[in-house]
Amino acid sequence: MSYDNDNIFAKILRGEIPSTRVYEDEETLVFMDIMPRADGHCLVIPKTPCRNILDAAPGQMNACMATVQKIARAVREAFDAEGVTIQQFNEAAGGQEVFHLHFHVLPRREGESLRPPG
Ligand code: 5GP
Repeated sequence: MSYDNDNIFAKILRGEIPSTRVYEDEETLVFMDIMPRADGHCLVIPKTPCRNILDAAPGQMNACMATVQKIARAVREAFDAEGVTIQQFNEAAGGQEVFHLHFHVLPRREGESLRPPG
């Protein structure tokens, strides 16, 4: 499957549409999900083109995982969370809606369900 340069996250990376950026380094960017399923719901993406895990190079995976861990620890502190859920979807059949690799980081509290999507 090919990479579409006009997907929403590519536009966010280029600054063509606004986002609430919370972290960035040379290889990754983190911003708030526009329809948060929990308070503090963030998305971690690589800065280089990548459709999803099925298409990712080891370097992109390593960089994303390092950032996911940083952000998981940060949101646990910032949102006084008791746990953190990481979600990741690949291709439409796998639940993916935006076709640039991303990892959801969701702060969780005991007994609180994720809000429904949308
Ligand atoms: P997925 O591809 O993992 O199923 O879902 C894509 C995620 O991107 C959803 O959680 C959705 O709320 C989020 N999203 C879609 N469009 C935008 C946008 O324009 N800005 C931001 N910040 N998040 C978005």
